[in-house]
Amino acid sequence: MATKSTLAFEPGWQYDPAPESTDHVSLRDSYGLFIDGEFTPAASGKTFETINPATQTPIASVAQAGSEDVDRAVAAARKAYDTVWSKMKPAERGKYVFRIARAIAERAREFAVVESMDGGKPIRESRDIDIPLASAHFFYYAGWADKLNYAFPGASPKSLGVAGQVIPWNFPLLMAAWKLAPALAAGNTVVLKPAETTPLTALKLAELIADVGLPPGVVNIVTGEGDTGAALVRHPDLDKFAFTGSTAVGRDIMRTLAGTGTPYTLELGGKAANIVLEDAALDQAVEGIVNGIFFNQGHVCCAGSRLLVSEAVAEPLLERLRARIDTLIEGDPLDKNTDIGAINSEAQLARINEYIDIGRAEGADIWQGGSDAPQSGYYCRPTLITGVAQSNRVVQEEIFGPVLTVQTFRTFDEAREKANNTPYGLSGGVWTDKGSRIFKMTGALRAGVVWANTFNKFDPTSPFGGYKESGMGREGGLHGLGAYLDLGMGAGA
Ligand code: NAD
Repeated sequence: MATKSTLAFEPGWQYDPAPESTDHVSLRDSYGLFIDGEFTPAASGKTFETINPATQTPIASVAQAGSEDVDRAVAAARKAYDTVWSKMKPAERGKYVFRIARAIAERAREFAVVESMDGGKPIRESRDIDIPLASAHFFYYAGWADKLNYAFPGASPKSLGVAGQVIPWNFPLLMAAWKLAPALAAGNTVVLKPAETTPLTALKLAELIADVGLPPGVVNIVTGEGDTGAALVRHPDLDKFAFTGSTAVGRDIMRTLAGTGTPYTLELGGKAANIVLEDAALDQAVEGIVNGIFFNQGHVCCAGSRLLVSEAVAEPLLERLRARIDTLIEGDPLDKNTDIGAINSEAQLARINEYIDIGRAEGADIWQGGSDAPQSGYYCRPTLITGVAQSNRVVQEEIFGPVLTVQTFRTFDEAREKANNTPYGLSGGVWTDKGSRIFKMTGALRAGVVWANTFNKFDPTSPFGGYKESGMGREGGLHGLGAYLDLGMGAGA
């Protein structure tokens, strides 16, 4: 006779807190700019504070680079390129990149805690996804450093020179790895600007880069706000520019670089459809929907932020989805039980709440589930928006938070048209029992990455990037490496 599982959740059952310790973390009170292998203050002496979004308390003060500092960083990168990095044997360069991969893996626990403190993401995610993947990117690209001719048969790959790179706040160390690893393996030197709300893991990476003995100037890290990024984009001595961030800023960058001859790649926003056909395994689909939109509080460019569900299964699916959302634990990012951490900043929380109000004003129904959010810190409960039309702003625009819109469809063509009908084209998902329907739907989606019966799976070997307003160029895999090389066929994007 079946016995009741001792693990069955009784009403009111609670996890005990399981906080990750922070006593192994070493953080300075203040950080300078990492230029030519050393930390130096900004020429203006200006600094800003980086805040822990879960507690609203400052963690460290960080130098704010102006255009003079950006000049210094680009000059250091140029010197390192001309005198050391471009002259080094590729196999030796590869060893440095391997060393970075290994050192990140060795210090993974500390990086994970700092990432969660500075950005608000659950420690489970920074520990199991962000930091291991960052190390994996360096590891993957290190292997190509001395095999570029094999990577691009028939071409004569050459490094480009100095790369300027600007990254967002949603995967701070991972985005730095996506940018730095292929650039270094291809033989370029770099000036990287992290996002202003999450500079700390990039600065810890600068310490690590100095520790592994990378020659000074090969990697320079300049912290600051949008103005610092704009000064880097405008710098006349760049041979390549790579940006990940919002479509609005991507447009500005495109205007600045148009006609300069500098190759560029833009990884921008998204509004992915996660499509559930009527033959899908509903419980698995529910897990995939939850992972698709609530992973990293929905601060994910490729988040499955629009659920499209066959009308035939909409009712049971939504019932199971609401029940599942109600089990999600929202709270302290450093608690190992936490499913949904803090929203990255006060400004982002205001933006998400504004969109929820817009949805309400558009006549949609707003439902919020999950556990009660903590009273202090920036939190937003997991939110479903139903009763929406395709033209509604909450369906068309990127919210970048834990907010899922829900639409139904009756035919394959209706699903395809709704899925493709936004300005974006970064990612998508399809849930079905039939391989043939997977191929039919994934082939019909105008999106750079499409997952089938899973979502938000990443691998360094796999190219990633978008169509339409989601950007141009690809990162990851050989495509990502090629973007940092002159293949003799027109370089970069
Ligand atoms: P954002 O565009 O506001 O900022 C991104 C970076 O650009 C930051 O470092 C910022 O300081 C800098 N910046 C701001 N103004 C600038 C300017 N005029 N010139 C140069 N740099 C400037 O974006 P965000 O809010 O930090 O990030 C969220 C956005 O990033 C979302 O739209 C998300 O979809 C997108 N994103 C895309 C991908 C992808 O691979 N496609 C990955 C992650 C995030």
